[in-house]
Amino acid sequence: MSSITMMRLPSMGSPRPLILLATALLAIAGAMLFVRENVLDYGLRATATQAEERLKLVGATFSTRIERFRYLPEVIARSREIEDLFRDPASPEAALSGNRLLARINAASGALALFVTDAKGRTLAASNYDQPGSFIGYNYRFRPYFRDAIQSGFGSYYAVGVTTGEPGYFLAVPIKLEGRNVGAAIVKIDLLPLEQQWRDAGELVAVEDREGVIFLSSEPQWRYRSKGPLDPESLARIRDEQRYGAADPGEMALGSGAIGWSDLPIASFDEGGVKSRRLMVDMPFAESGWTLLYFADLSFVIAQANIATIAAGLAGLLVLAGLKIAHQKRQARRLELRARSDLELRVAERTRELSQTNLKLETEIVERQRAQEQLDLTRDSLTQAERLAAIGQAFAGLAHEINQPLAALRTYLASTRLLAARQDMVAVHSNIDVMGEVIGRVSHLTDQLKRLARRDDADFGDVDFAASVDRVAELLKFRFADLGISFSSEIDRPLAILGNSAQLDQVMLNLLGNAIDAVRDRPVRVIHVDGAIEAGTCVVRVHDSGRGLDDETQDRLFEPFHTTKAAGEGLGLGLATVHRIISNHHGEITAGRSPLGGALFTIRLSRIDSAAAAAE
Ligand code: ADP
Repeated sequence: MSSITMMRLPSMGSPRPLILLATALLAIAGAMLFVRENVLDYGLRATATQAEERLKLVGATFSTRIERFRYLPEVIARSREIEDLFRDPASPEAALSGNRLLARINAASGALALFVTDAKGRTLAASNYDQPGSFIGYNYRFRPYFRDAIQSGFGSYYAVGVTTGEPGYFLAVPIKLEGRNVGAAIVKIDLLPLEQQWRDAGELVAVEDREGVIFLSSEPQWRYRSKGPLDPESLARIRDEQRYGAADPGEMALGSGAIGWSDLPIASFDEGGVKSRRLMVDMPFAESGWTLLYFADLSFVIAQANIATIAAGLAGLLVLAGLKIAHQKRQARRLELRARSDLELRVAERTRELSQTNLKLETEIVERQRAQEQLDLTRDSLTQAERLAAIGQAFAGLAHEINQPLAALRTYLASTRLLAARQDMVAVHSNIDVMGEVIGRVSHLTDQLKRLARRDDADFGDVDFAASVDRVAELLKFRFADLGISFSSEIDRPLAILGNSAQLDQVMLNLLGNAIDAVRDRPVRVIHVDGAIEAGTCVVRVHDSGRGLDDETQDRLFEPFHTTKAAGEGLGLGLATVHRIISNHHGEITAGRSPLGGALFTIRLSRIDSAAAAAE
């Protein structure tokens, strides 16, 4: 099995990536929440610190505004005109001078009003004595500042004026004559300009009384309203004191709560149809039991937190994308590595297979070479056998031919012995000459035989094909004569070619041997050889008057072991050997029908002159 099919590819439907994605998104959401809460918390704390600082400043300004007037009731209470008035309250002159004093001081101090009451709370003189809505004759006994001044020496109170309807802060001290409290001197201060100041500064500031009713605020609609519900007792007291005139204090729609993890008080309210939330900081305003309230704008802090949250989300998504890309890269790399190692494995496997095949091939080549060598050896042996067989046949005639000279020699030897005995030296010499000739002929024949029987050598050189034909014809001459074969040849001399004469001798021996076999049993026994140079090619033809070649023999003529001869008479190697020798000489041999009636074998060898042969 290929290891590629074993590779586990991540399946698309696997729930693992979905779980991972959900976890990552949850983590991002968590990080966003964490960032948001921290930025909010930090922002809220910073805002709270700022608001507290701001509130301290507001408180200081507020106190300063009141302190500026604090000395006034005391100054009035100790003035001569007022003392005179209290010594003689019925005197119109004393009243007038008191009134004028108060009007004068009031104008100079910038207070709203200055007035004095008797011990029962009835107004004796006032700075607005000559104006409509003057306090003269009004009784303020129900006001706490009057009570407090008479009882404890100082009273202060914020209220809406019963006669003027204008709100103001009242400060009161007792007026003493001979150590007795005879009345009270009171200054009414205008605090409304503070509201304008806060508004101008763009701040939301409010002042709440002891009961929780806002009486001053940069937001005018908040005036005489409370943040939370008022208890009925407080409400009754406020009404009795007519603290805020005709206005009936009510609760305002101010939601309270917190933002995020912070425990800082947050007020939420409607600002002209837009819901907004502000951080609420309060500070007690000691003297009167009031509370200063500061509502800090949170839009910047919230925007900051939102931006930070979005940034955290984006950063988270970026990290996620980065991780995803890194993961994909890692996975691609892993797959690539796996594919590469798989490829390497397959290459190694294939290489191993190839080297095994190579080894097998090499072994086969060696075996084939060995078989070829064996075959060559066998063929050489067979060729040699064939040659010896041909020689054997030729020798049948030769034996007879050699016997004759041997018999002649024996006769001559006997006659020579006799002649020698007779001392006929002339005749002896003549006999010895004849014997020498006979011996020369015999040794020539044996030389030819030896030459023929010699094993092939591969040496090529300038040879004469005509000489080969002559040599073989001469050896077979006796066989021709024995068998009554008429042999003729017609050859141009020399037939110079580049070749091996021993091999060419064998060619002729085989062809003529076959021709003898073909004609020996025929009534007409003719063998003819012709040779010539035709168009630069050496052509040698062997004719016979035999039976010729039938179709089957014609097709398989040059195949080894194809023979029509009886067992023991032929191996079927003669023509195969001839064919091989002619091929080695770069020539060709063909077989056909001879005009003599039998077979015709034609050999064509390229004729090479000595110069060309040397170059070759
Ligand atoms: P062998 O002579 O041992 O049979 P050869 O290869 O020399 O082997 O010859 C093969 C066959 O070709 C012979 O058996 C014979 O049938 C045929 N043949 C060869 N030469 C001739 C010829 N001159 N005339 C007729 N047949 C021939």
